Amino acid sequence: MARVAFIGLGNMGGGMAANLAKAGHDVRAFDLSAEALERAKKAGCLPATDAAEAIAGAEAIITMLPAGRHVEALYTETLLDRAEAGAILIDCSTIDVATARRVAEAATQRGLLAVDAPVSGGIAAATAGTLTFMVGGSVAAFERAEPYLSDMGKAVIHAGTSGAGQAAKICNNMILGATMVATCEAFALAEKLGLDQQRFFDIASVSSGQSWSMTSYCPVPGVGPETPADRDYQGGFAAPLMLKDLKLAMEAAASVGAQVPMGERAEQLYAAFVEGEGAALDFSAIIKTLR
Ligand code: NAD
Repeated sequence: MARVAFIGLGNMGGGMAANLAKAGHDVRAFDLSAEALERAKKAGCLPATDAAEAIAGAEAIITMLPAGRHVEALYTETLLDRAEAGAILIDCSTIDVATARRVAEAATQRGLLAVDAPVSGGIAAATAGTLTFMVGGSVAAFERAEPYLSDMGKAVIHAGTSGAGQAAKICNNMILGATMVATCEAFALAEKLGLDQQRFFDIASVSSGQSWSMTSYCPVPGVGPETPADRDYQGGFAAPLMLKDLKLAMEAAASVGAQVPMGERAEQLYAAFVEGEGAALDFSAIIKTLR
């Protein structure tokens, strides 16, 4: 088993670091939050006083941070200069494609291997070790990262070169944002047309309107499998995180001149929702604004 540094022990990183410790790795953990560090300690990780201490002697350095600026600062201020020769750098945060490519390029110039490895699956999957990882980087870097990612997930897929993992993640979540809005407005319209919500689910879930947003994450309480809708839209995938991913998708689309009209509309709707009551709710709660 290896010595692994894990930086960023929040909602997602906490469970992921715990699963690496459970798999037998010697996990050196760091977070700016003392509370998060304490939780990691209870989960079998060794808390470090700063990032430099966490990465000393580490064969793998994993980051799970809020956004691109946090990742780039940590890489340029600490990781790139202090990582052990031969270490693999694995960034699991959801960040913009350009920053992911820039930090990977800087790592390569220093002779380090690096991958972007964002995840699909929320806090429950991070805790259960059932995340899906989409990985961008060279074949050699992917092969080095894969065993660590397998200890935290159910699927590890090589998406392509640096940044391809982030590209896959934001394209996937752009589909999710748009299909969730489409599913919500269809339920709202069905209701106004006098259709029973359960009956509409029974029909659409086995017809061509079916999607993950319909059958696995139904936004209507009491319909379909248990989802955040059944818990007053608490927990799950927070609307501000959906908005973050849609903004990243819009940025990426603008950078290559891609037409994304549905993604653009979903981004506008989520921006309005998050400014209002959506700030503390699951993203499926956008149905409240459409009913
Ligand atoms: P979070 O805010 O709960 O955790 C981030 C952690 O990083 C915090 O504990 C914070 O203290 C720490 N941190 C920030 N800067 C740091 C630094 N310089 N050094 C050390 N620690 C630092 O966020 P989260 O929900 O765990 O999400 C993390 C990433 O995963 C984000 O990029 C998010 O978009 C992505 N993601 C989240 C979910 C989800 O459902 N929460 C799902 C998929 C992907």
